[in-house]
Amino acid sequence: MKRANLSCGDMNRPALAASCCLPVILLGLFFFGCQDKKPAPAKNLRPIIDSHVHVTPLNDSVARAIEIFDKNGITKFCTKSAGFVGSGRFNATLRVKQQLGERFAFFCNLDWRGIDNPAWPEREAMRLARAAQLGARGLKIFKNLGLGVRTADGKLLAVDDPRLDPIMQKAAELGMIVALHTTDPKVFFDKPDPANERYMELLFAPSWSFYGKDFPTRATLFEARNRLLAKHPKTTFLGIHLANNPEDIDYVDKLLDDYPNLYVDISARIPEIGRHPAEKVRRFFIKHQNRILFGSDIVVSPGRLQLGSLSILPDDDSDADRFFQAHREFFETDHKHIDHPTPIQGYWTVDAIKLPEDVLQKFYVENAQILIWKKK
Ligand SMILES: [Zn+2]
Repeated sequence: MKRANLSCGDMNRPALAASCCLPVILLGLFFFGCQDKKPAPAKNLRPIIDSHVHVTPLNDSVARAIEIFDKNGITKFCTKSAGFVGSGRFNATLRVKQQLGERFAFFCNLDWRGIDNPAWPEREAMRLARAAQLGARGLKIFKNLGLGVRTADGKLLAVDDPRLDPIMQKAAELGMIVALHTTDPKVFFDKPDPANERYMELLFAPSWSFYGKDFPTRATLFEARNRLLAKHPKTTFLGIHLANNPEDIDYVDKLLDDYPNLYVDISARIPEIGRHPAEKVRRFFIKHQNRILFGSDIVVSPGRLQLGSLSILPDDDSDADRFFQAHREFFETDHKHIDHPTPIQGYWTVDAIKLPEDVLQKFYVENAQILIWKKK
């Protein structure tokens, strides 16, 4: 009941940008309070595998996630934040796996502590091997590689630092996918002031701003990421968030052409993807139909849902229904000027792309089955 149906408002971006923060918040609260609740999703929805979620491995969070997924036709899901072997989170994730079996898959993460120790690369490569034995299907590397992890000299670790090579090689040997979150939205590198089109989000999450300080540029981060892809042609990579460049479909198109070892997911990026002409986006999805995965990036943690990004007021289960419905509407219909799933990511509407049946089936189910669940 509290989400803004921002398309029905007349909050255009220049007007928003001109506002200072308090009126913006008040306007947001007002609009977020006036949305009509959409009907509960119908039964007999097309099954979807959500390849990118973050469900805290605790009973209540798992139960809540399952309830949301059942209602929204999410038949299987893959959590990208299982932690590392030896951590409490990883052990708890193994218990979830035992409970849920085939419905659930998980990617482990790296432990950056000790990065300056010459033994670190081998330690993490061995940990990856152990994680694979215990059922992990991949390794997810968060955006702190390139933007947060620092070595003893105080410098940010480069995305293609040679210390990562043994881990990438081990992933290839094990058939583990390496999911990369490299850099972040373009405007997060711009000044976080009212002229920034995602000012509201940056106001709520100041740590998402990479403006100034010693952060590398977005282009530098992409170049390093691409060198990593080139250095490890036998490793299969998953560029989450449309390889973190949904702002430039042509770039991602070329990236997929240049690196056959790369897949992408669309998680939390429909607002950006939908800013391009629908026909162009549709062509992109058809061209790369075997290499794009559905992912929502939903976060279900104790007492909290996150639906693609932060929101002004806490999200509830009906917001999660609306979130998944907005995804379906974008991919399954040809509706014009629809609301995208994550209002705070942009005060604009998008045109849906109505994927052909067979492409939709690959995107929703088959690509994840093959890549993550290893099913033909
Ligand atoms: Zn995520």
